[in-house]
Amino acid sequence: MGAERSGAAGNWLLPLKMPSNKSVSDAPVTQFQNCHILKDHKLQREDLWVREGKILNPEKLFFDEKGYADVQIDCKGSIIAPGFIDTQINGGYGTDFSLATDDLKCGVSMVARKLLSTGVTSFCPTLVTSPVSIYHQVIPQIEVQDGGPRGAGILGLHLEGPFISKDKKGAHPEEYLRTFENRGFRDLFDTYGSLDNVRIVTLAPELDRSEEVISELASRGIRVSLGHSVANLSQAEAAVKHGATFITHLFNAMLPFHHRDPGIVGLLTSNETPVGRSVFYGMIADGIHTNPAALRIAYRAHPKGTKTLSGSISTMDMCVRHFWQAAGCSVEAALEAATLHPAQLLGIEQAKGTLDYGTDADLVLLDRELNVKATYIAGEWVWKHSTIANEKEAE
Ligand code: ZN
Repeated sequence: MGAERSGAAGNWLLPLKMPSNKSVSDAPVTQFQNCHILKDHKLQREDLWVREGKILNPEKLFFDEKGYADVQIDCKGSIIAPGFIDTQINGGYGTDFSLATDDLKCGVSMVARKLLSTGVTSFCPTLVTSPVSIYHQVIPQIEVQDGGPRGAGILGLHLEGPFISKDKKGAHPEEYLRTFENRGFRDLFDTYGSLDNVRIVTLAPELDRSEEVISELASRGIRVSLGHSVANLSQAEAAVKHGATFITHLFNAMLPFHHRDPGIVGLLTSNETPVGRSVFYGMIADGIHTNPAALRIAYRAHPKGTKTLSGSISTMDMCVRHFWQAAGCSVEAALEAATLHPAQLLGIEQAKGTLDYGTDADLVLLDRELNVKATYIAGEWVWKHSTIANEKEAE
């Protein structure tokens, strides 16, 4: 609805707890009012309607069902964006997911709960290079699960390593790095022990037999990301042709851009990738790992704008604010880097990462400076900033 329609919708606002037509659903309808919602790549002055954890088409409610809102929430001019999706979280708040201990599940749960205050409603717990025994112990334990009041949802694991370059290992322990030159995909599978809960694998495409490994992972629906690598551009392009769709923390732990061979960074402007294929890239937009000028280069160079943001040691909301300011992009673009693009990367944009009708009502309410005011998962309030926690709402 445009401005005109939302004016009309205003006239439909009725006292609370109005009886509604229950022929379609008995579930209560929540109406978020006085907000700007991120929809169709634009912030729009429009109310947001939620029922049974999904975003509801209000026209269907009004005209087909003759229904009304059961609950109204005054958002006081807030921006409402889809909940943030972080594809790379190694731990935090004193926990490292790679250090498997008996209370690992507690650690993941604790991080999932803390993330709610940063606007993150779902994430990929990430393991850095670890001994085989750790993979066998940890991977079966971290199961895909929905989010809720107890924490952000788990979308599956991101395994960063151990099939990476020893020259760009960063903080990964060298003694545990591996290759798949002997048995290809079998080497990878035996190392991890299981791929059941795995969503993303970061690997170095210059390793022998990487192309068959990438093809096999892609055929299983696992996203392949390039990173911790000394690959040249043609190796990176070959990896994309075989199914890689992501670049892990662009600029960090890869060859620096060189005009004779721009390496993985060159994928941003490559014309050798398959038509219609988007290559996403993650950036650590924390003001430390990536210079603002580099953020701007990446932002301006990539025509499809398919960047995603990753929190690293900074929180996702901080990265969104920093990216917005440093890249000089629109609010919409900064928000989509934390919502739509990671959802597209993971292939879950029918359910998450947008405010389209029928998608999950995972929401983050933000002020004009993009500070998180409140977080909702499946339409349920799960976190609220302390300054407004005690405010009385029209609920
Ligand atoms: Zn890394």
